[in-house]
Amino acid sequence: MSKCIACWLDDAINLDRPRLQTSNSRFNVLECRHCGLQWADPMPTQDELDAYYRTYYQRKKDRSLAQVKNALAKNVLEKVGWYKVRHLTFMHLINRHHPTKGVLLDYGCGEGQMLRVAKNDGWKVIGVDYSDEFAEALRADGIEFHAASDLRSSGIAPDSIDCLVAKHVIEHIVVLEQFLSDCRTVLKPDGIMAIKMPSRTSLRARLGLAKWHFVNPPEHQWGFQPYCFRLLMESHGFEVLYLKDSLIVDELTSIVGVR
Ligand SMILES: [Zn+2]
Repeated sequence: MSKCIACWLDDAINLDRPRLQTSNSRFNVLECRHCGLQWADPMPTQDELDAYYRTYYQRKKDRSLAQVKNALAKNVLEKVGWYKVRHLTFMHLINRHHPTKGVLLDYGCGEGQMLRVAKNDGWKVIGVDYSDEFAEALRADGIEFHAASDLRSSGIAPDSIDCLVAKHVIEHIVVLEQFLSDCRTVLKPDGIMAIKMPSRTSLRARLGLAKWHFVNPPEHQWGFQPYCFRLLMESHGFEVLYLKDSLIVDELTSIVGVR
């Protein structure tokens, strides 16, 4: 696929194999010359995705020795409340753009930290994830949870969601246009999406301190920065209400409304 889904121009260059993969990788990374959107070519197959995501969270825990340092750093950050602060800050931003609250769906909810923050804040919450590894724990806490490999098959009713959270999700999705269309279907007419994604123009990425903004199939199929993300949203029926690269974390945060 060489046509860009953000600006529709058919003018992509091949950046060669993904930066984090070996020379025998079957994937290439394409970049749109006009807007800078990057994507994997070819996209991973459904079998590759299934194999990768069914035990995604368990594998994150079963880290190799080389990754233990990272896990330890994560534990320290957890103890000092870093993640909690990040979730509360995101919640505050969401509330600013949707003060009446309502139903919040976290797509790719994982352990459900964001769902718990939103629930405490007065939202009715629903979690959806490819993996059902945390289904029991979430339901035990009274959280509605659906395991599904895509939004369309998750059983969420049309026009029922006030805020759809997609935190570090869209870069993973193969058929992104279908996902955005499905999001519009489940959102109410005044609904919003709250999105976080890796950004290669974030300060950490620019300084070379981060690696996870790279296109890295079967994990990340897409690479973003603010310009191409805005075009992507506007060309798929959304209005960008907030869009900012983080100064501390390697990510881009956005709130978009249905147009
Ligand atoms: Zn483009």
